[in-house]
Amino acid sequence: MEHEFDGAVVVGAGPSGAKTAEKLSENNIKTLVIEEDNSVGNPVQCAGIVSTRTIEESELKKDNYIQNRVRGAKIHSPNGESIEISRPETQAYIIDRSQFDRKLIESAVQSGANLKLGWRAVNWNGKTLEISTPKNNTKTKKIKPKVVVGADGVKSTIRRSINLPRPQKYLSGAQLTITGTEIEKPDFVEIFLGQKTAPGFFAWSIPTDRKTTRIGLCIDPEMAKKPATEYLKNLIKNHPKLKKHKDKELEWNYGAIPIGYPSKLYDKKTLLVGDAAGQVKPTTGGGVYTGMVCGKTAAKTINRYLDGETQLKEYDTNWRKKLGRELKIGMSLHKTLCSLSDKELDKLIKKLDNPKLIKTIENYGDMDYPSKVAIEILKTKPSLIKYFGVFTTKLLGDLL
Ligand SMILES: Cc1cc2nc3c(=O)[nH]c(=O)nc-3n(C[C@H](O)[C@H](O)[C@H](O)COP(=O)(O)OP(=O)(O)OC[C@H]3O[C@@H](n4cnc5c(N)ncnc54)[C@H](O)[C@@H]3O)c2cc1C
Repeated sequence: MEHEFDGAVVVGAGPSGAKTAEKLSENNIKTLVIEEDNSVGNPVQCAGIVSTRTIEESELKKDNYIQNRVRGAKIHSPNGESIEISRPETQAYIIDRSQFDRKLIESAVQSGANLKLGWRAVNWNGKTLEISTPKNNTKTKKIKPKVVVGADGVKSTIRRSINLPRPQKYLSGAQLTITGTEIEKPDFVEIFLGQKTAPGFFAWSIPTDRKTTRIGLCIDPEMAKKPATEYLKNLIKNHPKLKKHKDKELEWNYGAIPIGYPSKLYDKKTLLVGDAAGQVKPTTGGGVYTGMVCGKTAAKTINRYLDGETQLKEYDTNWRKKLGRELKIGMSLHKTLCSLSDKELDKLIKKLDNPKLIKTIENYGDMDYPSKVAIEILKTKPSLIKYFGVFTTKLLGDLL
């Protein structure tokens, strides 16, 4: 039996789905959120570092989901040299993603969204959405909604069901939280570069308090010789900055990050947002900020679509106006920076270790919009262009 549903179904209760659902409900659109897990926020697949702007975008009160505040980063080159970049004030929050996601969905429910936990979207053919209880597919339902939003993360059943194109690349990540050793600078994150450390991306250490840190990395599977977990074990064992940690292991996390958004993120009655849409920053792998911005944009278009004022295609134009250029430049930067050899990375860090360039990075660095600092670095030292890639040739004429 098929049930007509005079509203929107949002598949997935992560940050992208929760923000979409909240904004739809605020506009009095009937909104059903389907989440396959029995609770929101688990398992965590995140290092939990977000910009201060992300917290503003979330519209949540700052409370106990914030575990730490950081104001700088130490970046280690493969040969052990490092540079330090900082500002006096908080640059990023370290959050408990589980709690953060729960608060976001609570806001959506308070705005009127109906949340159904333990239901999985199995198929969407553009007219009928089939959902089932995940463990045993015996209990199934068919719904005919006005719109479906695929906010169902990196594996997106909705994207695959209606054959929308996939993101360009999937990075593979692993993370271990350890506790015990006093951390030298708990208000700094550390970044570790190198093709032997994390081929095709980078590794991190992100303190959540004075003694606890999340050590993790992502790799590009096409450049790697073994799984992400093996690289991580190797890093923790051998890196001089980390091997002193004879700490207790608290938690392992794993996950994939989609980068390089596809050419089309809509269909007649479908929109994709967040990881499902590859709306992730290719330079850092961060997707919480971009997912929420795009969720809000999707809700605005759906509102106008249901009033007969526009087609869903409008979403693709509008989200690109906000983030498309940034994510494109980010992908270009990713392709160049993440394929530099260890020797080239050593040289780059050595060249950046110059007071004028460090000041430039401190003045213009922006986690959500890294193209700004890339452009300013090139204005300060144009010879670094070989480390930054092809995007610059298009922009240089206008900007340098
Ligand atoms: C190792 C790692 C570290 C990261 N670190 C950071 C970081 O520090 N900062 C940052 O900003 N980003 C980080 N990210 C990326 C970030 O976690 C994601 O971009 C973000 O979670 C995307 O939110 P989303 O709502 O689009 O998807 P998700 O958070 O993945 O939510 C999707 C939801 O959909 C549900 N779902 C999936 N399929 C179905 C289905 N068929 N039916 C019903 N429900 C379904 C899932 O259970 C899930 O709840 C990291 C990712 C990884 C892997």
